[in-house]
Amino acid sequence: MPEPEQPEQEISIPPTAKAAETQAWRAFFGSLLKTDFPRATESILEFLAHHYGFKALVWLERSNGGFENRAAYGEMKGRKVRLGIAADDQRLIEAMQNEMPLEIGERHGADNTTRTMNLFPIGVAGEISAAVATLDNIGSDSGKKQIARMCQSIAPQLEILRLRSDVARRELIGGAVRRFSDGIKSVETDDLWLSLTQNAAGILQAERASLLVYDKTSESLDIKSIIGSRNEFDASEESGSRVAKVIFARNEPVIVSDISKTGLPPAAERGYRSASFLSCPVTIGGNVIAVMSFTDRAGGKPFDKESLELFQAIAPQLAVSIDRATLKEKAGEFEQLSVTDALTGLLNRRYIEERLMEEIKRSNRHGFPMSFMMLDVDEFKSYNDQFGHPAGDEALKMVGHIIRETLRGADVAARYGGEEFAILLPQTISEEALAIAGRIRANIEETVFPHRRVTLSIGVASCSAELCLAENIVSAADKALYHAKHNGRNRVQAFEDMAPVQAN
Ligand code: GH3
Ligand code: MG
Ligand code: MG
Repeated sequence: MPEPEQPEQEISIPPTAKAAETQAWRAFFGSLLKTDFPRATESILEFLAHHYGFKALVWLERSNGGFENRAAYGEMKGRKVRLGIAADDQRLIEAMQNEMPLEIGERHGADNTTRTMNLFPIGVAGEISAAVATLDNIGSDSGKKQIARMCQSIAPQLEILRLRSDVARRELIGGAVRRFSDGIKSVETDDLWLSLTQNAAGILQAERASLLVYDKTSESLDIKSIIGSRNEFDASEESGSRVAKVIFARNEPVIVSDISKTGLPPAAERGYRSASFLSCPVTIGGNVIAVMSFTDRAGGKPFDKESLELFQAIAPQLAVSIDRATLKEKAGEFEQLSVTDALTGLLNRRYIEERLMEEIKRSNRHGFPMSFMMLDVDEFKSYNDQFGHPAGDEALKMVGHIIRETLRGADVAARYGGEEFAILLPQTISEEALAIAGRIRANIEETVFPHRRVTLSIGVASCSAELCLAENIVSAADKALYHAKHNGRNRVQAFEDMAPVQAN
């Protein structure tokens, strides 16, 4: 059974304010400029409630030609008032001039009973900037007039507070934009995607964020980075991607204050602490190039219009950075071509020499072991001479393939030149490197090549306390290789195992 509606209590306001009331209002009036705009709207409602007994008040602020709810008191708390009336509605302007409220019918409750809403306009220079609305029944016209005058009397003060808050907001946004651009300026090579996401999340105060970038070639939205996620590939990211796809297609941001209202799995199930998220498209020249999503706002507050405003302030820079990073990645693919050997698909000498420098530095710094080997196809000149150069190429391709198949993920294999190969084995001690070299040698020997048996010789050198310079390790491996050739080919030789006299 629905509760019967309470008989409305009339609010009785004496025709002229009592001295105490006037004094209280003056004191309140004087204190307004000491607060900020949001606090001022709340305290005006509180003042009206405490001094006149209002039970249902709402502050409506002009926004996009209409009104939006800014503050509420009593039974209006948590309720949204939607007025189908424009901010410069003639009736409202007349009400302001007449110092009276505009009465409008408001549908109420499940049975749609209509209650009268009194709308007290507030404005300066004939322009409405806000309105105080109440569902309370104000008995007399003189009482209405008194409230209307009070509301109108604070308009100039409020205008000052509004301007101040605009300035503060602009400064806040300006500051955020500066911080963002400083943040991404220092970002170079490393992980651009991650840094962009971290910087944007910092500005939005989100503990979790993701960046999805559209790839024109594959026509897909690719996850470039996720921060704050417990598990990169958990189900929540999947539904996150689903949301991002919708945002991408619509090219419109969404602020969701409560995920449970979206039809998506509830926040807790998705491993999120808060039920709020913000997802925004990033565009360049009208085209959506990426989607950024934020959730778990620090402090547990939901994302709001101001969060979106902040995002939109950094969006142009974000767009340019994403575009540049995408181009850079493409350039990286070209770069890839220039470090790859066309015949075997292995890396080339230039690349492995560079990597060798890096790895040696790392080994020296952290005391990691490292091994390096040189491999040379045995009697290859005669293979070419007998079966022709193209057949030789085919054999080299097969050798490259077998090497790659035998190695582990972190090992770096390169064609060093001609029928010579080199392999860098990071964090690998001599014994392990010798075992791997042994497997490569055996695999080549056991593979049936089109024309005849193919073998190779391998020289292995490992990084030790004494030997850790790039030239040294290459020449040590080279010497070991020479030794293997000298001792009959199709064999593995460790530099460390060579007699000292031969090492020099
Ligand atoms: P060893 O066992 O001492 O290494 O004898 P080898 O004949 O392999 O040594 P050598 O250095 O005398 O000859 C290397 C030959 O490898 C010369 C060349 O015909 C062949 N070669 C080098 N690069 C290529 C290539 O890109 N394609 C083909 N088909 N052959 C190549
Ligand atoms: Mg050779
Ligand atoms: Mg050779």
